[in-house]
Amino acid sequence: MLALTALTLFASLAIIALLPARSRAPAGATRTPAPSAGATAPAATPSLDPNLLALPPGGSVPGSDGIALARAPEPFTFMPERDLDEVRVYTVQQGDTIFGIAQKFNIKPETLFWGNPDINARNLQFLQLGMELRIMPADGVIHLANGQQTLADIAAQYGVDPYDIIFSEYNNLPADIALDTKLPYNTQLVFIGVEGAPIDVGAPVVVEGSGVGGGSVKVSGGPGSCGLTTVHTAGRSVFSLPLSGGYTFMQDFYPGIHNGVDLAGSTGDGVIAADGGTVVFAGLHNGGYGYLVVIDHGNGFQTYYGHLSRVGVRCGAGVSAGQYIGAMGSTGNSTGPHLHFEIQQGGVPVSPHIHLIL
Ligand SMILES: [Zn+2]
Repeated sequence: MLALTALTLFASLAIIALLPARSRAPAGATRTPAPSAGATAPAATPSLDPNLLALPPGGSVPGSDGIALARAPEPFTFMPERDLDEVRVYTVQQGDTIFGIAQKFNIKPETLFWGNPDINARNLQFLQLGMELRIMPADGVIHLANGQQTLADIAAQYGVDPYDIIFSEYNNLPADIALDTKLPYNTQLVFIGVEGAPIDVGAPVVVEGSGVGGGSVKVSGGPGSCGLTTVHTAGRSVFSLPLSGGYTFMQDFYPGIHNGVDLAGSTGDGVIAADGGTVVFAGLHNGGYGYLVVIDHGNGFQTYYGHLSRVGVRCGAGVSAGQYIGAMGSTGNSTGPHLHFEIQQGGVPVSPHIHLIL
């Protein structure tokens, strides 16, 4: 019944969240952070109310009683026509991931954590069907009052002007509220443009019961394309060397010019998955990659292994970190046997040096 109580509490919060904002943004307004947001404020610690953090596991989750399962899922089809102008509540559906939901609503994954301070971060990492999440209209932090702090205290905690809190279109505070007012327990305050504590959003993301970790992914570019592939396996966001043997560092990462690193060796040398994931491209690529394997790690990261002489995995296969995926070669735009190894995050090549020692 604790879960039910929490759900009821959440429902009442949702109603607060959905109350019409007192001064709505003009039609056609974009999600530029509101001027009231204190966009330059330093990173602040989000709600620290120990009572809120002490919710039991699954505290605000309907649970696996079947009720949530009866909801009609509509994964990957809902796209907001325009950005939100208020805090909404989203019910987690089959196939959802933190990254997928964030993308759907055009916010950072971290904002899902910062916007749901009453959900234990670890529970959020393991999304469950039916879990209800606050979706902020833009990146920021939601603070739930602990009943002890004054408005001035909270403003100081986030490094913002208290009047910015009072006059924020996303908060429902009386304009004449005194700064020494202790806000009632669970009063919701929205801070757009403010960052919360750093969150490791790279941890495994799993939808309970579905086994689906990363939504559906397609990498185009040649006969090796897998088409739309469901990502089953989530990576650890920790990358290891993609070769089972030695290598010579040949060419470095220069974004836009050379989107990965070249590691030279001998044709036939074993190429291994840098992290667990699902194969979303396996075969010949029309571009310079030659024979290519792409692994989607289900957490926003993809790794590319190019110029292979042999592709050792099939489309859609789940691979674990260190698993053999092919052999080094010199296919495609290459002048000698080497592995072109590339890490993309959200579709953008990032420096492999950030993620592993080469
Ligand atoms: Zn290369």
